[in-house]
Amino acid sequence: MKNIEITIKQIIDLLFPKLDAYEQMFYLYLFRNTILEDKIEFLIPISSIHKLVGFGIGRLGSPVSRQVVRNKFKSLEEKGCIKLVKRTRKGIIYQFYLPEEINGVINDTATTSNEINIDRMDFYKVQKNKIYILERENCKCFYCGKKITNQDFAVDHVTPQMLNGNNSYKNCVATCIDCNSLKQGKDAENFTRDLYRKQFLNKDEFSVLLQKLKDLSDGKLKPQMSDDKNFI
Ligand SMILES: [Zn+2]
Repeated sequence: MKNIEITIKQIIDLLFPKLDAYEQMFYLYLFRNTILEDKIEFLIPISSIHKLVGFGIGRLGSPVSRQVVRNKFKSLEEKGCIKLVKRTRKGIIYQFYLPEEINGVINDTATTSNEINIDRMDFYKVQKNKIYILERENCKCFYCGKKITNQDFAVDHVTPQMLNGNNSYKNCVATCIDCNSLKQGKDAENFTRDLYRKQFLNKDEFSVLLQKLKDLSDGKLKPQMSDDKNFI
């Protein structure tokens, strides 16, 4: 929560003076739908967004026009606050950036920013980051302990994506191919219990693994990164 407080202060004190009222409104809307939902990207329904946010701030109390919406998202992009990821039939997917990730907003990106950055990095889609997870696991399957290599491993969601698991280091582990395909959509704790019942794990290994899962979700198992600047 402390990071969020710092971020909100940075948004209001340092970023907002650089944005106009419309840009502030859309920026906050995206902040609410990405950071506060533990996501990096969000789909903006360009044709209806003017009815979802800022109703009444257009001329004579009307909604903002679509042209204004288009212009403001463009200027937010030019200011480095968001990045267009993909156009889809339902709208445009944008990646959202925090003040500390926007050039020229904060001069002193001290320790707190690194903390936030690693929390937001994608350890599932980004190949380089997957290797950091493999290294964190000491090249052993997180679940069964079997040796794995960078040619022969998978990154598994501890809480499956279909149960809203995200791609952060707190939810991604390196596993052998067998565990990854056996686990599929199961949640890690249930899968771990399965391994124990089927005697792939003894009692001690089972309790060590449960503790590791807890440490992981508490953020105690941060991957070591050789270059902190290459975040996604
Ligand atoms: Zn395994």
